[in-house]
Amino acid sequence: MSNFSQTLWDVIIAGGGPAGLFAAIRCAELNPNLKILIIEKASQTLGKVIISGGGRCNVTHACFEPAKLITYYPRGGNELRGAFTRFQPKDTVEWFESRNVKLKVESDGRMFPVTDDSNTIANCLRESAKNAGVKVKTGINLLDVEKNKNGFKLEVRSEGKLFYLQAKKLLLATGSDSKTREIAKSLGHTIISPVPSLFTFNIKDKRIDGLAGVSVENVKLKMDTVTTQGALLITHWGLSGPAVLRCSAWGARILFDKKYTSPLFINWLADYTFESALEVLQRNKDWQENAKKKVSTQPAFSQIPLRLWKQLTNFIEEKNWGDLSKAEIRKLAQELTAANFVIQGKGIFKEEFVTCGGVKLSEVDFKTMQSKIVNNLFFAGEVLDIDGITGGFNFQSSWTTGWLAGNALG
Ligand SMILES: Cc1cc2nc3c(=O)[nH]c(=O)nc-3n(C[C@H](O)[C@H](O)[C@H](O)COP(=O)(O)OP(=O)(O)OC[C@H]3O[C@@H](n4cnc5c(N)ncnc54)[C@H](O)[C@@H]3O)c2cc1C
Repeated sequence: MSNFSQTLWDVIIAGGGPAGLFAAIRCAELNPNLKILIIEKASQTLGKVIISGGGRCNVTHACFEPAKLITYYPRGGNELRGAFTRFQPKDTVEWFESRNVKLKVESDGRMFPVTDDSNTIANCLRESAKNAGVKVKTGINLLDVEKNKNGFKLEVRSEGKLFYLQAKKLLLATGSDSKTREIAKSLGHTIISPVPSLFTFNIKDKRIDGLAGVSVENVKLKMDTVTTQGALLITHWGLSGPAVLRCSAWGARILFDKKYTSPLFINWLADYTFESALEVLQRNKDWQENAKKKVSTQPAFSQIPLRLWKQLTNFIEEKNWGDLSKAEIRKLAQELTAANFVIQGKGIFKEEFVTCGGVKLSEVDFKTMQSKIVNNLFFAGEVLDIDGITGGFNFQSSWTTGWLAGNALG
């Protein structure tokens, strides 16, 4: 260990995740003369990459227009706009392809390695770092940082022993680790408090009881000030699917403050209003052929699966279309376009976990990822108050901010 602690490193990168490795590789390839060290507290680098996307690693998203791309980030979109003009998903695809890792696009835009194996991505990054001459030390936990005349003095622990490292420049790429965010705070940065993003909703309600696995292609959700649209999946515990995950991401702070209990309004017909749904229902009632048909078995809208329609119309009992009162038609229109549910808790979305919060973005220069407060201190990845919705956007912000930091450091 003594060699490491006696070296004056040009660049130390704390955190061997995707942001840290990407930065190190860019930096080393730009300037092979630099002494670059990555310190990683776990026994191996890229732990999250390996488990990501169900073991397949959803590397990025096939969205190649920065203006559109930023709409997938509940926090950080504005700051990433310029950054994406410098390094965006197209560059990510080319970066990996130039290292013989081909990516493929799935129908929803998510991009994976053609091998469907996250190890392909991890191995490519580790190999590229090694080939570029980056030193990687695992099992080293960064505990504290002090600014001094040479740059930064890092207090670290390895195998129970404390020692110090010295670097001219420091990149913090430690993800959502709360202790390192405290280090950034001790150096003068503001930390936006972390709260979970991307989760499912726990909802117990007769209307969705026993319907686990049923999905609706396009619904609109309204929770407090947040409105989202997309597919919805009924689960054993409540609701999931893209519309719910988006709602959890944009409503992350609101739901945290509400202790994950909140009314949720579902428009099962997405693009219909109360009035336009009412019109269709009224036409169904007035239609002679329908008069003697049961509402529960004769849906008025094909986009609602029959099993769900039956439960949503349960309050009408077994009435025929022709026997519905005006009040019942109105209630049905209400139930279809603004059904009132209650979120009772937060579930787990197994494919991807993300935290929002982190280093305040206005304190960082997004051309270089350098701190505006401490000279020669840089940030990349999830340590920043950036998060995207599910679909490869979180890795993309790590590739982009890592690349920009590496570019500036090199
Ligand atoms: C289960 C799961 C699946 C996911 N799937 C996807 C996906 O398919 N697509 C997608 O876009 N996003 C996905 N994500 C999100 C994505 O993994 C993160 O956004 C991304 O890893 C952030 O990269 P990072 O380098 O900033 O941080 P991290 O990947 O968290 O890396 C930070 C590294 O720093 C190390 N570290 C922390 N503190 C210290 C310290 N004090 N000293 C030394 N080292 C330290 C950590 O051990 C870690 O290795 C997933 C997340 C999870 C949890």
